[in-house]
Amino acid sequence: MSKEIIFGLIDKLCEEKNLRPEEFLVLLNSVEDNFVMDYISRKAQEVTKKYFGNKIYIRGLIEFSNFCKNNCFYCGIRKDNLNVIRYRLSEDEIFECCKKGYDLGFRTFVLQSGEDLFFDDKKLVKLISRIKKNFSDCAITLSIGEKSFDEYKKYFEAGADRFLLRHETINNLHYKKLHPDDMSLKNRIKCLYDLKKIGYQVGTGFMIGSPYQSLKNIVSDLLFIKKFRPEMIGIGPFISHKDTRFCDFKSGNLNLSLILIAILRLMLPDRLIPATTALGTIDKTGREKGILFGANVLMPNLSPVCVRKKYELYDNKICTGEEAAECIKCLKLRLKKIGREIIISRGDFKKML
Ligand code: SAH
Repeated sequence: MSKEIIFGLIDKLCEEKNLRPEEFLVLLNSVEDNFVMDYISRKAQEVTKKYFGNKIYIRGLIEFSNFCKNNCFYCGIRKDNLNVIRYRLSEDEIFECCKKGYDLGFRTFVLQSGEDLFFDDKKLVKLISRIKKNFSDCAITLSIGEKSFDEYKKYFEAGADRFLLRHETINNLHYKKLHPDDMSLKNRIKCLYDLKKIGYQVGTGFMIGSPYQSLKNIVSDLLFIKKFRPEMIGIGPFISHKDTRFCDFKSGNLNLSLILIAILRLMLPDRLIPATTALGTIDKTGREKGILFGANVLMPNLSPVCVRKKYELYDNKICTGEEAAECIKCLKLRLKKIGREIIISRGDFKKML
């Protein structure tokens, strides 16, 4: 395929025209071509700068429980992994994380956990209301998995603003290869539409290079995201975990992860797209590279250092040994090197198109 044709496809994306599936495949097959990668990185950065300048939003991630009732085959904290030392933070401990985060400049707290039934609606509503009452200028994002419409509504009414729920894969056969029979793609998608209906800013996404994923699957994921129009899009490479059936599968490809960030930035220019911890795990400067391909959000960890290692969704997760303050210092330096800076702001999605 000639460079002109491939560059032409990137230009077409820049004009926000739809690509045909086979055109997406051409792009996804070009990730080893440095000229293509440079070109799409430049275009994605132009668009990102147009909407967000050189500002990067930060979200403080609080991993408040690693108990989970589910058995997603890829996930290190799956229920049947008996090697995990389980923990849950108390309401006071979670609150302390927020306090620390607030002083460091965070105005969004992401509460993430396994699907832990100990945190029932009453406890969650109390927690959300308490954080909201004390940090009224902050946004709360939940990332706690699949719940009913009524439950999501209760958390929203208590003050939760946003919800992250990756669809993981939009292909049903692929979904079945990654999840046990008691989980369904249909329910996951229903949850996403419920969240949207209630009024949350919604994030979805998928892993890159998850076992049995084909490039065609990825194209379907892109088309689903385009149709669903989430406010936030989280994608990151799959990384194996030693205690799962996928322990011998290799990690998602760096360049493929980067080109997908750029493609999503060009498809949905005003959305919030993080450079994920997983991206920083497969490559020392993965998060910086993510930003250079159009990401505009970072999600540093605010969890107490003593539990960080226990929330291991995959092997060798980075930043499990540092205090939040150190992480922020390190990130500021890294961003400076690439001409970006952190902005102290809730960083809500604003419709700009
Ligand atoms: N229990 C919540 C939060 C899940 S963890 C939920 O169900 O939404 C957040 C994300 O981590 C998952 O959606 C998944 O895409 C990602 N993840 C899990 N295991 C992973 C692995 N081995 N490699 C990379 N990402 C992984």
